[in-house]
Amino acid sequence: MAENNNGKCIGCGRCTKVCKFLNKYNINSDDYKHMPELAYSCYLCNECVRVCPVGINGRKISWEMRNNFIEGGGRLKGAGYKLLLWEKEDYLFKNYKNASYKSVLFTGCNFPAYFPKTTQIIVSRLMNEEGIGTITDCCGKPVSELGMVDRGRKIIENLEKRLHDYGVEEIITLCPNCYYYLKDRLDVMVVMIYEKLKDLKMKISPVDKDIDVFIPCPDKIDQQIFKEIEGYAVRGKMKKIGGIQCCGAGGSASFKEPLITKSLLEDFSKVHKEKIYTYCATCSGMIAKSGTETEHILCRLFDSKEKPAVGLSSLMNMAACKNKKIR
Ligand code: SF4
Ligand code: SF4
Repeated sequence: MAENNNGKCIGCGRCTKVCKFLNKYNINSDDYKHMPELAYSCYLCNECVRVCPVGINGRKISWEMRNNFIEGGGRLKGAGYKLLLWEKEDYLFKNYKNASYKSVLFTGCNFPAYFPKTTQIIVSRLMNEEGIGTITDCCGKPVSELGMVDRGRKIIENLEKRLHDYGVEEIITLCPNCYYYLKDRLDVMVVMIYEKLKDLKMKISPVDKDIDVFIPCPDKIDQQIFKEIEGYAVRGKMKKIGGIQCCGAGGSASFKEPLITKSLLEDFSKVHKEKIYTYCATCSGMIAKSGTETEHILCRLFDSKEKPAVGLSSLMNMAACKNKKIR
């Protein structure tokens, strides 16, 4: 949306209308600037950014308030934050056994947890048909989004060092979060899988009917990934689903706002009655949790017919990544 009024809020209320969090506290994104006590209640979902006519960015406001809190010596209390840091700060289940290639698939942490079978299919096909390796690691975005920008930077430095040590020149991302977070931070090439599959001219199952697609938060504004995915529709259209704010997993806001998260999940079945396609593993997991039928676009393209793993089985899948020599 075009910026005007010198970036000053005009009080139009569009942000509050689209955001359950702003709505709960009866504020707009501009008021939010003055409420650091709510820094961790925002889902960092970009919905307010999408609708604000003067360019006020609630996501950025939240991230900055979080960073100020941490830099000011603030400590996050609660088991959820502790668990997230324990798992992701130096990713517990990383796997570099198949990393010594110029080009590698970067699975991220969530895709192999929700879709182990599809991961295996993609890994094997890229390796056997194109000589492309695999790395499983976390990009560091979840840690950085807690306002721990310095720790996030350290994760990037370590990742970059590993990539150099293994001679990697290009990573292919499965996850939209990894793609947007890493593409301007790493000094190696970052390419999304949907683009790479086209370059490689790999044989996949194109989409041959109308489908409804839920746009994940990192792709809401630029929609670079969606535009790439649209190219896989040979017959039929990919229709964007509107009226649902986000899946409720972003920004770790669910630790502070369990009731809003519950209501966000309920929207999937309330607002949309048909099967929901998406291209973020976390969104897939959340949509499945809501009880709505869903399919990840990559499961469709690789014809894996895999449903997202939920609960304990996703944790077990994640842990299983650690020692696998996946080929
Ligand atoms: S980023 Fe999302 S949750 Fe945060 S204020 Fe904007 S719309 Fe609301
Ligand atoms: S959408 Fe932008 S201009 Fe409108 S109330 Fe929200 S912050 Fe203010």
